[in-house]
Amino acid sequence: MVIAVDGPAASGKGTLARRLSAHYGLPYLDTGLLYRMVARAMLEAGHDLRDVAAAGDVVSRFDEGAFAEEALRGREIGEAASVVAAMPAVRSGLVERQRRFAAQAGGAVLDGRDIGTVICPDAPAKLFVTATPEVRAARRQKELAGRGESATFDGILADIRRRDARDSGRSDAPLKAAEDAVILDTSALTIEEALAAAIAIVERRRATAQSLLTER
Ligand code: C5P
Repeated sequence: MVIAVDGPAASGKGTLARRLSAHYGLPYLDTGLLYRMVARAMLEAGHDLRDVAAAGDVVSRFDEGAFAEEALRGREIGEAASVVAAMPAVRSGLVERQRRFAAQAGGAVLDGRDIGTVICPDAPAKLFVTATPEVRAARRQKELAGRGESATFDGILADIRRRDARDSGRSDAPLKAAEDAVILDTSALTIEEALAAAIAIVERRRATAQSLLTER
């Protein structure tokens, strides 16, 4: 079974996707890391982040092992990732890798922005995880502090709003809920409550998919 988990930055989708993968024993791919790797490679090579030809070149020589995850998690790389992610050449260069991951026997959990809409439109279970910008900013501030990166709440909130606008406003694969996704607002939920709600959504979808199969 493929479980698609989409949503805006710091909505809790990564935590939920990881927990769902552990619960169902499915492999997990954080697709945001792929865009972060491209951004990091662009910066390290000294390219302008908006240089389309350079981005196409970086993606064609993409090496998943080039950076440790820690080197990709920072605030600036997230921002840079959303700039390169708006380029069609970058998106198309990363599609196959994501689809191959999803096609593994038994299924997989993928999280990102366009998993339910573009990468795995046929996924039986799709969640769109969201939370208010203020709740997301508070979570991100805590996460950054845990890694020793300090930033003001207002600065992080401004980042989140800018990233939402860029991710939702781009023409290629914008951030939006698939028509058949279930929206899960985690603003007032603990991680455990959100996980229970997510599992209930997946179970409902699984039961529907099963009954459609037996009807045939
Ligand atoms: O999820 P994360 O914050 O790591 O993603 C970084 C950026 O990568 C996002 O702001 C978004 O622009 C881009 N992204 C995307 N499509 C995905 C995953 C991430 O465009 N499937």
